[in-house]
Amino acid sequence: MKTPFVTKEKINEITKQIPTPFNIYDEKGIRENARAVNKAFSWNKGFKEYFAVKANPNPFILKILQEEGCGVDCASYVELALSDELGFKKDDIMFSSNDTPAEEFKYADDLGVIVNLDDFTHIDFFENVVGHFPKKMCCRFNPGGVYELANGIMDNPGDSKYGMTKDQIIEAYKILKEKGVEEFGIHAFLVSNTVTNDYYPTLARTLFELVVEIKEQTGISLSFVNLSGGVGIAYRPDQKPNDIAVIGEGVHKAFDEILVPAGLGNIAIFTEMGRFMMGPYGGLVTTAIHEKHIYKEYIGVDACAVDLMRPAVYGSYHHVTVLGKEDAPEDHVYDVTGSLCENCDKFAVDRQLPKIDMGDVLFIHDTGAHGYSMGYNYNGKLKSAEVLLKEDGSFKLIRRPETIKDYLATFDNLGVVDGILK
Ligand SMILES: *Cc1c(COP(=O)(O)O)cnc(C)c1O
Repeated sequence: MKTPFVTKEKINEITKQIPTPFNIYDEKGIRENARAVNKAFSWNKGFKEYFAVKANPNPFILKILQEEGCGVDCASYVELALSDELGFKKDDIMFSSNDTPAEEFKYADDLGVIVNLDDFTHIDFFENVVGHFPKKMCCRFNPGGVYELANGIMDNPGDSKYGMTKDQIIEAYKILKEKGVEEFGIHAFLVSNTVTNDYYPTLARTLFELVVEIKEQTGISLSFVNLSGGVGIAYRPDQKPNDIAVIGEGVHKAFDEILVPAGLGNIAIFTEMGRFMMGPYGGLVTTAIHEKHIYKEYIGVDACAVDLMRPAVYGSYHHVTVLGKEDAPEDHVYDVTGSLCENCDKFAVDRQLPKIDMGDVLFIHDTGAHGYSMGYNYNGKLKSAEVLLKEDGSFKLIRRPETIKDYLATFDNLGVVDGILK
């Protein structure tokens, strides 16, 4: 059974001040998990988690992770600027972008962050734009083919747009070295949302073996291996959550077996987890406002895909708890829908739930990563608020809901819609 991290009483208290819908985040859970991650990799001297900003760019959240020793992984100008403003500096920032615009490489270099080159051609592109190379650089690897884990989970790197082939990456290190780069890293992201303790250890083996081969072929000893993201969470109640301590030990074993004997025991391990750092520590709180009985039973809520797109885009499962009815029999089958004029705007389809009455408050689980941040303004729907449930049990509004003024802000001085705002 999945239980919300916040009680119905607390939600009632919050909704007196902040109406639904809103995303709420659990500071205690975020901190405890970040500490568990750092502990799991404490055997590695240079370990650092670079939180993937795209998963949750709220500055208050980024500050909490910063206090727990995390850096950030950015992929755009705005993510870089936000991170810089929050005091993440140089080695605290990994710039793992792709299809990168010239001005973003330029900006990343100005800030002195660690640039992760997605492609072989980016070496020339970077040199043309920036005019020189930093002392430290990373290259992104794509092994091609199908990447399979012991439990059958797999993905298709051969079909993905990211990274360099093995021959390209080896050549890239040689060229970068000639051009004056002194410190190198390797990065790969091969499978998303892996709910198995096997993914990082398996990926680590692949990368560690390549690191040894790179040393043999080029004489270059890499200084860090970036395992990137992809560690999943148990969205479904029947899934067994990953155990980060077991994952850390699995990587440790591969490290001791492959890198240490090759004289590469000083390599730092980096991660760029987004989902695992934040997913379970966010929930979307929304009120049932309509019930509809046609060929199916529908419950309409006051949130929509603008607040959480994953179900609409990927058909993802997000568990739903009807607050106060945790122990009621789940004897109704509903589609829980948002209000977009798109039939995919459903938070749950054919979901077994307790009887829902109008005004019931629903807690949609695991929205802390790739939730609010993916939202958009389709149908002119405005994005909702974000609330932090603090460690001491109090709460704080950490982003107000959008207003029509925000929506129209890009028509500045064009004179076409000024009347609406009067
Ligand atoms: C999205 C992304 C991540 C985070 O992925 P999660 O699945 O949320 O852990 C990390 N690195 C890069 C380069 C990404 O694009």
